[in-house]
Amino acid sequence: MNLFIGHTITRNKDGFMLVLYLNPQHTEFADELSGIGKRYVEQTIKDYIVSNFPNLKIKSVNIMLGSLLIATLPFSSINAAADTTSSHQLQLEQFYEYTVKSGDSLFKIANEFETTIARLMSINGLSGDLIYVGQQLKVPSPQPNTYLVRAGDTLFIIANQFGLTVHQLKTYNELDNDMIYVGQILRIPIKKLIETVNRLPDGVFHVGSKGESVRGIQKGLNTFGYDLEDDGIYGPITQSVIFDFQSQYNNLTNDGVYGPNTKRYLQNALLTDHIVAPNPASTLVLINKKHSLPSDYIPDNLVVPNVSFPFEEYNPKKLMRQDAAWAIEQLFQKADQDNISLYALSGYRSYNRQKAIFGSNVKAHGMAAANQTSAKPGESEHQTGLAMDLTSPSVNFQLSQYFGQTREGSWLRQNAPDFGFIIRYPIGKEEITGYQYEPWHIRYVGTPAALDISHNNLTLEEYLGVH
Ligand SMILES: [Zn+2]
Repeated sequence: MNLFIGHTITRNKDGFMLVLYLNPQHTEFADELSGIGKRYVEQTIKDYIVSNFPNLKIKSVNIMLGSLLIATLPFSSINAAADTTSSHQLQLEQFYEYTVKSGDSLFKIANEFETTIARLMSINGLSGDLIYVGQQLKVPSPQPNTYLVRAGDTLFIIANQFGLTVHQLKTYNELDNDMIYVGQILRIPIKKLIETVNRLPDGVFHVGSKGESVRGIQKGLNTFGYDLEDDGIYGPITQSVIFDFQSQYNNLTNDGVYGPNTKRYLQNALLTDHIVAPNPASTLVLINKKHSLPSDYIPDNLVVPNVSFPFEEYNPKKLMRQDAAWAIEQLFQKADQDNISLYALSGYRSYNRQKAIFGSNVKAHGMAAANQTSAKPGESEHQTGLAMDLTSPSVNFQLSQYFGQTREGSWLRQNAPDFGFIIRYPIGKEEITGYQYEPWHIRYVGTPAALDISHNNLTLEEYLGVH
């Protein structure tokens, strides 16, 4: 059994402090630190530092048991006790600090950081699952596409690390000023988005321009949801797309010419259009008009659930993720017992399928109108494999708001949460979800969350504390 279960590193002006967390099942070493086993413990730490941070100037080592400080060892003393022939090898995971927000639960945090409640409790020396707002918790890994602010960081240092400008980093995180604090989690755009934004050229381009710069503009427009051939030729089609883009903003001259102002708006639009979900595979992933899935995200284990569909043949829209498929089978069995006639109509939808749907809507009606009637690629919850549209003979197997008033619709509202599903776009919450009332669209979030959400009359946005 490992003596330590993890570490954090804190930087101050003199150098680094290593904090090691004792394995709670190994507390006898807390006593040994002051007694006979001191040399063994010091040797273990020395080995750990040499093998993991050979180049880090570590000034001192703190040893913690949960939130209790057991001992502080200056690094020089560890150094003096070193025996270079030792063979103890330790591999520890790095812990990060997370500040508990309003609406958090251990369940939610565990889910977000892809760990378990038991592990969070063990790492933090918690005896129960009660946590409070503002509490500092150690979590085993940072979310992907995020950066945890450390002592000594500035926006400039962080932006530089990721090939961003300070303006881009601030825009992406919707920061009004340059203040950041230790422990803050900043979102970092995915590489592809950074590249796209940085390829937007300076200068003025119009019909007749051609070359790599024009291709950069076209790629930017496509990332925003247009469907242009990126051939590097600024022809009438590129011009009409620029017209359409400019027409969405009052402060932008509607001239079909790409110049510094259009560049600024397009860059900001790209950076604020979506937040790419850091946890696409989580059952609590939030996908809406502001939070999108990565374009290359395809859920693992897509299967056809054993439930009734109004059509026989195989179609990818029959697919759901395995966990959601199992749950919907239980839901349909209960419906059967209660003499409720439900049919599944449309589940998984790939990014590319959504892209084709949205792209043809943009071509026909322009960006503003397309946004009203369809989801941009990546913004459809159907890409998670956790959603299914349901229907019934009472609404002629259509997707109709009237479904909410039928016996089937009201049965679904009552019973879905017991099986881990929520009505994702409820009536009266259109402002929060960004969608009109859809009594037919159910989303799997797992039973504890579904019960919590429905009993408290919440949306997923409200439950996760994101608006
Ligand atoms: Zn749907």
